Amino acid sequence: MYIFDAHIDTLMQLPSDPKYFEGNTRGHVDLPRMRAGQLSAQIFAVFTESHYRPGQSLQRSLAMIDAFWNMMDAYSDDLGPVLCAEDLTELRDQGRIACLLSLEGAEPIGVDLHNLRIMHRLGVRAVTLTWNHRNALADGAEEESAAGGLSLFGNQVVAEMTRLGMVVDVSHLAEPGFWDVVKTDAAMIASHSNAAALHPHRRNLTDDQLRALADRGGVVGVNFHPGFIKDSDPSDVTAEDLYDHIEYLINSVGEDGVGLGSDYDGISNTPQGLEDASTFPRIVKGLQRRGVKDSVIRKVMGENFYRIFCKTLPKRENMGC
Ligand SMILES: [Zn+2]
Repeated sequence: MYIFDAHIDTLMQLPSDPKYFEGNTRGHVDLPRMRAGQLSAQIFAVFTESHYRPGQSLQRSLAMIDAFWNMMDAYSDDLGPVLCAEDLTELRDQGRIACLLSLEGAEPIGVDLHNLRIMHRLGVRAVTLTWNHRNALADGAEEESAAGGLSLFGNQVVAEMTRLGMVVDVSHLAEPGFWDVVKTDAAMIASHSNAAALHPHRRNLTDDQLRALADRGGVVGVNFHPGFIKDSDPSDVTAEDLYDHIEYLINSVGEDGVGLGSDYDGISNTPQGLEDASTFPRIVKGLQRRGVKDSVIRKVMGENFYRIFCKTLPKRENMGC
């Protein structure tokens, strides 16, 4: 089965611990566990923590992107970078894990489209426009009642991303910005968000947002963070609670609009039964037990994210990769 995880924060560990990916016991992801989990494709987020923002965010993001490319070199038998649509198909056929770069929060771009284009040249193929706070593009979910929509610059970034063949990620974005992205032509995903109807957390999406995402051909990746799954003690949250969100999302967005965005290595707790990247095959079994059709399970596990990236990324002949 093709398994595509749309969000992990593993790159945060690599600049200070280059061997982390080879095998570690303090996080959720490394190469042996990705292989055990039968991952086919993985988006690696470039997230710059608050103490780097905004002044040091570009410098810090370059350290993580350098670590990503070092990882591609070091484990090239198992991994390969995705720069164009054909890379996804070829890596699938070769049985190597397709690795994509995304920015989580556009702070490294600052206020300059040149930086966006340089990020694209460095391999970035998706941008989560904001983290939880305000930046030059838009407001994040924690701005709440103070939040506005996309700035003029935010609209310019979305338009340029669309021209370049990049995917716009609306996870973390405050709701007014979400609706502004809906009005554009952007390829749209919510890489790691859940259903607000099951747990009304500001990081989750309302039914109206989910329907709009579906209408746009977008995909939402279910987030494994217990705090976004259920209003209870994190240690009480189980894989079954996550499957509730997956089933709800299938019913509200449709079977073509749901995927996985674990947030591994970016979350402190995980649901019982889904402790690390080795556990993805359990989700297949869990959904089968609930009677979800195999064709739908394949879409949720990876085919939907595969589809939207294949459709959006530039073709090789147009970018020389
Ligand atoms: Zn996040």
